[in-house]
Amino acid sequence: MKYLLFFTFLVFEGVQERRVYVCESATAYAYHYYKIDKCEGLAKCKSKITETSLDSAVRVFGKDKLCGFCKYKADE
Ligand SMILES: [Zn+2]
Repeated sequence: MKYLLFFTFLVFEGVQERRVYVCESATAYAYHYYKIDKCEGLAKCKSKITETSLDSAVRVFGKDKLCGFCKYKADE
């Protein structure tokens, strides 16, 4: 039971509370795991960069894809 609770906590953290970055440009479609020092895609953002939860990145900002650079880094 303890294990199950721990696992649930991890999933919740990962899905709901992961902090991501979005470029507030109409042409930007992705959210980012990393800041501009680590992501080439976000470094190209000319608009305001906002830190938010993954949930609101998708629902509020409409960025529903993970950036390719960040995905590559996260898979390393
Ligand atoms: Zn990125």
